[in-house]
Amino acid sequence: MTTETSSPAPRIVRCPTCGGDSVFAPQNTWRPFCSERCRMIDLGAWASESFRVEAHPEPDEGDEPKEN
Ligand SMILES: [Zn+2]
Repeated sequence: MTTETSSPAPRIVRCPTCGGDSVFAPQNTWRPFCSERCRMIDLGAWASESFRVEAHPEPDEGDEPKEN
């Protein structure tokens, strides 16, 4: 009995962060990144970028005044 049929060959993709080889398979929790570190780096960059965008509250949309 072989279980190889249930585990197809993993795809190797390029890690968006370091450009290295990354295993694109369920076993790779950090896919498409190669490691947790790379994922965190990219996630951090994306989060900070997003945060900057969302950090701009629109005063015109003051339906509920915070002052007073
Ligand atoms: Zn990487």
